[in-house]
Amino acid sequence: MHIHLGHVLTPKSGVTPDPTALLDLPHGAVAVEGTTITAVGEASALTEQFPEATVTDHGDRLIIPGLVDCHVHYPQTGMIASPGEQLLDWLEKYTFPAEARFADLAHATAVAEEFTGQLVTHGVTTALVFSTVHAHSVDALFTAARARGLRIITGKMCMDRNAPAELLDTPETAVAQSADLLNRWHGVDRLEYAITPRFAPTSSDAQLAALGELAADHPDVVIQTHLSENHAEIDWVHELFPAARDYTDVYDRVGLVRERGVFGHALHLTDRELVRLGEAGASLAHCPTSNEFLGSGLFPLASSLATAPGVRIGFGSDIGAGTSLSPLVTAGEAYKISRLSGAPLSAAELLYYSTLGGARALGVDARAGSLEPGKDADLVVLDPSTSPTLAYRAQQCDSTEELLFAVMILGDDRTVHQVVINGAVNGATADGVSVD
Ligand SMILES: [Zn+2]
Repeated sequence: MHIHLGHVLTPKSGVTPDPTALLDLPHGAVAVEGTTITAVGEASALTEQFPEATVTDHGDRLIIPGLVDCHVHYPQTGMIASPGEQLLDWLEKYTFPAEARFADLAHATAVAEEFTGQLVTHGVTTALVFSTVHAHSVDALFTAARARGLRIITGKMCMDRNAPAELLDTPETAVAQSADLLNRWHGVDRLEYAITPRFAPTSSDAQLAALGELAADHPDVVIQTHLSENHAEIDWVHELFPAARDYTDVYDRVGLVRERGVFGHALHLTDRELVRLGEAGASLAHCPTSNEFLGSGLFPLASSLATAPGVRIGFGSDIGAGTSLSPLVTAGEAYKISRLSGAPLSAAELLYYSTLGGARALGVDARAGSLEPGKDADLVVLDPSTSPTLAYRAQQCDSTEELLFAVMILGDDRTVHQVVINGAVNGATADGVSVD
């Protein structure tokens, strides 16, 4: 057993968790046995209860749950900060050429290695990730993620129209390759498969229907795509699918709107669409830095929840349209958007949507998202003293609420002191800490 001592801060589970509720143990401890959290409590109590345990004392550093990214494109790791276009032009100019390079397995393997390394650097232990249309891009990511012990959900991108020819599949190959990858990888260690149409404009009716049938055969599998990000995109969807009631209905009428259906952006939905998504128990991935960078719009988090109480929401980086893999940076921008939308998020809520809220959105909250006995041992140790601005601000804080807020607004990868992934420090049992 291994006990981590520090200032423990975590959201708490429950049938319907309260995003504003926080377990705050300034002199706290998290006990880990193998890959699982076995106890969370006061440091004095746990060290007394388990005198044989190895102890790492993180002092007054914060110990929070492993961070969750609900929407990210690993093939776009190298094209972050490509400027000057809105969504549809940006896809043509930067994204499709970057994804075409993944025809080369060696390139996919190298980017998967870089991407998973950067996830760890930023404290992300769980992510829902887009790969490319090439089936081997999924093999490359799962292989790299498995070596690091990460909880990764990904799938082959499906596109059979409105993209360069070398990036197109067909309804038949999309389903055959997706099913093959699902059979080989789904449930291996902490890996899961996700059925992944890019978005409505790049899939024909036939492809979406075929993926809907695949989804019906696998009712527990994640579905990920994009929804209602940009006004030109929405107009295009209406032209391409004149029989659908609205954008959400394009997915809904083929069975792709359901629990563990994770829809990126969801910025400009009608009330009808929101209500339907809520009834279905579907999830929305809020990607603030991407929405700002591409000028797509401001996600109305509070009013979306008010209209659709059943909807699940998590934060996503949306790299490469997003500008940081850091969930702390993402949370800081989500705060500013919530402020502009008239319903500012609290520090506890920012932490919640970066951890347990995201885990609920992905349907993995039984194992991830909070520090609680029985969950996987995914911990992030945050050190506010590693950047001068945050270090000085932290010295002035009088309360946990104030300190956590400063960390969520000013923190970044420098703030991440140590990451424990499924019980192993930084994804390995090295670094001088034995995990037994
Ligand atoms: Zn995206």
